[in-house]
Amino acid sequence: MRPRRPTRQIVIGDSRVGFVRIGGGKPDRAGNPTTPAPVSVQTMTAGYTHDVEACVREIHKLAAAGADIVRVAVPERKDSEALRHILPQVQVPIVADVHFHFQRALEAVDAGVHKIRLNPGNIQDRKQVIDVIQACKAANGGRGIPIRVGVNEGSIIERKDKQKRMKELGQVFSDHKHGYMLAIMIAKLEEYLDIFYEQDFHDIAISAKSMDASLVIDAYEAISERFDHPLHLGVTHAGPKETGCIRSVAALGALLANGVGDTIRISYASDPVYEVEDGLELLYSLGLRERRGVDLIACPTCGRIQVDLFTLVQDVRKQLAEKVTVPMKVAVMGCIVNGPGEAEGADVAVFAGDRRGIIYVQGEKVANVPEAEIMERLLAECLAFQGRVQRGEVKLGEKKVEIIPPDPIGELGSGYEKIAAGQVEKRVGITIGKS
Ligand code: SF4
Repeated sequence: MRPRRPTRQIVIGDSRVGFVRIGGGKPDRAGNPTTPAPVSVQTMTAGYTHDVEACVREIHKLAAAGADIVRVAVPERKDSEALRHILPQVQVPIVADVHFHFQRALEAVDAGVHKIRLNPGNIQDRKQVIDVIQACKAANGGRGIPIRVGVNEGSIIERKDKQKRMKELGQVFSDHKHGYMLAIMIAKLEEYLDIFYEQDFHDIAISAKSMDASLVIDAYEAISERFDHPLHLGVTHAGPKETGCIRSVAALGALLANGVGDTIRISYASDPVYEVEDGLELLYSLGLRERRGVDLIACPTCGRIQVDLFTLVQDVRKQLAEKVTVPMKVAVMGCIVNGPGEAEGADVAVFAGDRRGIIYVQGEKVANVPEAEIMERLLAECLAFQGRVQRGEVKLGEKKVEIIPPDPIGELGSGYEKIAAGQVEKRVGITIGKS
């Protein structure tokens, strides 16, 4: 992992819902140093904003799933008006998503929204964009609210001038699509940002989205070198969860591992709760956020399996997600080949065999139960372990007992023996245990 690239920090929220910081590492406008905030996860409601009750319910659901920020669409006046009733009832910062009608942005600011998302390319004229900038500047008692300036692959091709449009589309469908789109995205973003700079407005996050993961990587790499605004990462129109997940993780994972990105939105044609869950899991996996709840390890199974592990893993995942909040490591393994190794590294573990499950807590064998009782006993051990962690009786990640596999490791020896004998350092040239 490369260090996070420093950006100017923006802050969204208020004293009631709390403040979420995005980016950081560069001094703020007053010259005060900032430290990079944890990468935040955002999502967007799928229902109608003007249905106040349903919208509030959905925002609560997304916040409970772990969303740091929630965006809502305000296509009509009734949607921006609804914000007045929604905002006092929710506990996360809310962003108003504005397209085409600059008035919706003004109304949302007036209602007290915490941030505006604007694509200046689909606002009719420059004067209207300036009106929104001035409104955001004056909002929040003069402290201002931030704006995300976004370009999307789908909305940067010329639409008004037919001849120009045909020419641009010709380029897009040429062999140079990638390079052409990349260049036009950056040029458009520069053009839009100039409007904000001319108004001395710098409280900005930026995004440059495409459904093409490799274009997303190149676009964000390029803009992170040109601008120091925090970056909102996303693959747009990524598709259903099943494929959108891969598309999003390919792009966002590569960028985040390279230190690029300050807030993320994974977008699926599905319940946005999945966007939040998968966004968080991506950040946990890269060590960019402190895990909330269980880190579940499970084997893929193979011809050695003797229990219904797939069902067991899904049951474990569901039950533990609801009941466990401490970030304990839980391993569900199919047999003794890799079971003991994973069980040793986990806080609570089960490895199965011959229609039974052997359960370990921090390396200590606590039960050997028939398959039908594995779930119940594993859950009980996890809850008991959680209680002990919360009472300060045990620490996460501690291991008390070495699990000796029933099968000897064999004459090739374990990795540990090789490290101890200095063979690994000699062979791969990496010095173990020294920085
Ligand atoms: S732990 Fe056992 S059952 Fe699971 S994949 Fe490995 S060898 Fe197969």
